[in-house]
Amino acid sequence: MIAAETPRVVSLTPAVFHLPDAVNQVSRTYGESPIVPRGPRLRPLLDRARHGIVEALGAPSYEAILLTGSGSTSMAAVLGSCLRRDERLLVVRNGAYGDRIFEYAATLGQPVVDMCLPYGERPDLEKIEAILAADEVDAVAMVYGGTSTCTLNPLPEVGALARKYGKKLLVDGISALFVEPLALEGSGIAAVMGSCNKGLHSHPNLTVALVRKDLLAEMERIPARVPSLELHKTWRAQQGGAHPYTIDPMSLCQVIAALEHLAATGGVAGRHAVYQARCAILRPGYERLGLTIARWENMPLQSIGTALHIPAGRTYDEMASRLASEPVDGHVFEIYAAQGKLSDRLFRIFHMGEYPLEAYEIFLKALARVV
Ligand SMILES: *Cc1c(COP(=O)(O)O)cnc(C)c1O
Repeated sequence: MIAAETPRVVSLTPAVFHLPDAVNQVSRTYGESPIVPRGPRLRPLLDRARHGIVEALGAPSYEAILLTGSGSTSMAAVLGSCLRRDERLLVVRNGAYGDRIFEYAATLGQPVVDMCLPYGERPDLEKIEAILAADEVDAVAMVYGGTSTCTLNPLPEVGALARKYGKKLLVDGISALFVEPLALEGSGIAAVMGSCNKGLHSHPNLTVALVRKDLLAEMERIPARVPSLELHKTWRAQQGGAHPYTIDPMSLCQVIAALEHLAATGGVAGRHAVYQARCAILRPGYERLGLTIARWENMPLQSIGTALHIPAGRTYDEMASRLASEPVDGHVFEIYAAQGKLSDRLFRIFHMGEYPLEAYEIFLKALARVV
């Protein structure tokens, strides 16, 4: 008997998916010659990764600071390092990650003004402006790419308000960096929480925070609040070619390989175009299948994925398990449930990572069988 070929697993999740071959090449070969993370061999890795990130994002007024961890680590580091203990923070939240910002700020004991909106609802810019104009807060935090609803918040507009009223704007750009075009220079954004695994297509071992240089200078005088995640201390060390703790050189090599791959494929604009081409196949395909895309008024859709209503008579678990176990043209697919408050109504399909467009055509065939 001839064994059936193992189907190719396509990740339609935003966390872990197939990566560029150059990144995989590091994973395959690094173990033959590990790099001790100190001394002269570490400095060029830190420099290339940090400068490569700033260059890819076209953001010379910012410093990239690398941390061991995933996106949430960067959230904790930015919230815990960029604010004084007594600064009043406006948290604009309309999704699961805005809830996380609120949770982390509350854990840190930050005085918070909570603008808690229904998931997906566009923040009211006039209300935000009124709070800033009345000097009720010193800083604002908001998510850019809302991964729970697959929508984009009006970041340029909120950035302009932060600039106008001289407030510190801290942004969760974890799902948007390297994919969504975002002009950081002159944007009014003081710091960005980032990641190296989502739009950059590396592993979730290292993460990044971007801090505008004038804020970094101010942070020298902000007492430390989050041990091991102090951004100013870490930046000082990394500028000197070191890291205050152990940092994984293999992960640095993977980030460098991912940055080189990004540059070779047209940078952020090129990646945005790739993701948009996937949207152009998938979204009309969903509609042909009778699925309804979750949309909110005046909220553009993210480029990395789509939230869809669970069709009547179907459950998420049933659809997900059939997609993951019944091969179509040699492929099986892993999809993602919605988060928290939305999980009984919506499910999500992301199209991140290194897959040919053909994989999404095949996915639509597989999806047709389960909806
Ligand atoms: C993924 C994500 C996070 C958190 O990332 P983890 O990888 O779970 O640490 C935070 N914010 C947004 C918008 C995200 O998409």
